Amino acid sequence: MKAPALLDNTRLPRWLLPSDWPQRDGVPVLARMALEAGRVQSVQPAADAAVRPPGSWDLAGTLVLPGFVDAHTHLDKAFTLPRMKEVQPGLLGAIDAMLNDRVHWSPADVRERASRGLQWAWECGTTHVRTHVDWWEPDAVPLAWPVMAELAQEWAGKVRLEQVGLIKLPLFEDASQALRLARQVKATGPQALLGGFVHSTNWSENALRNLLVAAQACDLDIDLHVDEELNASAVGLQTTARILREIGFEGRVVCGHICALAAQPEAQAFATLDAVARVPITVVSLPATNLLLQDAVTGRTPRQRGITLVKEARERGIPLLFASDNVQDPFCRLGSFDPVEALGTAALVAQLDDPFDTWSQALCRSDWLQRASAPATPTLAGATADLVLFTQADRHGWPSRSATRVVLREGCVTHGDAAPFFPR
Ligand SMILES: [Zn+2]
Repeated sequence: MKAPALLDNTRLPRWLLPSDWPQRDGVPVLARMALEAGRVQSVQPAADAAVRPPGSWDLAGTLVLPGFVDAHTHLDKAFTLPRMKEVQPGLLGAIDAMLNDRVHWSPADVRERASRGLQWAWECGTTHVRTHVDWWEPDAVPLAWPVMAELAQEWAGKVRLEQVGLIKLPLFEDASQALRLARQVKATGPQALLGGFVHSTNWSENALRNLLVAAQACDLDIDLHVDEELNASAVGLQTTARILREIGFEGRVVCGHICALAAQPEAQAFATLDAVARVPITVVSLPATNLLLQDAVTGRTPRQRGITLVKEARERGIPLLFASDNVQDPFCRLGSFDPVEALGTAALVAQLDDPFDTWSQALCRSDWLQRASAPATPTLAGATADLVLFTQADRHGWPSRSATRVVLREGCVTHGDAAPFFPR
């Protein structure tokens, strides 16, 4: 079903409006959005209802966001939990359980589970998903890797799927092998990125340098799991920032997790963030899995919560996204490939002010994963009309009551019930 040419009285978040947008009582006034040929043609302050063209929808203050990016998922592991027996607590216990599950993996198994994840993402209003794919061998491409490449093609136009080779850091110890791995990733297609698991248990500055240099040689962007631990001596992030500067890396580098910043003395953590702000690093925070996997000991209530320094990162202008991470696998038994859930968790654990007006951009700024420098002032005008309408939430409580939505893709309703907006 096609939406009309005019969506009136939409409530857009402050970050998506120009700085001179009118306000009433310190709150942005509602917007009138004109749609044409699947795009948003213009965004203006809402005007007199009397001049509303027939057929227009009156959204009466409904919260509206652009389509979401889920910047960090593991579609290859999703939905494996039901077939697991006992899983030891913590990140390393989950990794062990996952390794034992590998006997069940076949292309058909991975395809079925990953497709389910993409379907859920599509239904909740996500337009762009990035998945990591576990990669254990130096000479063999994992069986899930070509499955993701096929799914990227099949879902093109609905969900843009990117795939990151999540390669054990020791496989980069040898520079020529690092280059071979990077070339294999590059040959997959433009949706592929080089990645690695950077943790104090496998730490090697040499291997990390080889990874970054190999990506640079192959003109690849990078997406790393970094310092996913509460060990204050973890130096993955600060070393990544230093090497990127040394080699003059011009691609985009995503650093996910970086929990260790929360365990370090503030002066040290802030110095690292200052260095991160000077290189093309985007931070991705994964609050749900951090809560479940950090400070995890059987029978003991966790004390430290593992969220990274999200406010301090944003204060420094560092692009930052919240994402789902693991869904219904040994790393995280919950989850639904809905990044709004991740923000709901972050809003509590990181005590975020103003989730809708300020922090919702951490779900929508797909451009923060891209190489080209982000626009100073993001705007919907001219963008594809991929929109999510929250029919039962208000800005005070959002993202509570956000499950009921209407999703528009290129100006057509793909999910949800738009009947309440129809003219009477
Ligand atoms: Zn992850």
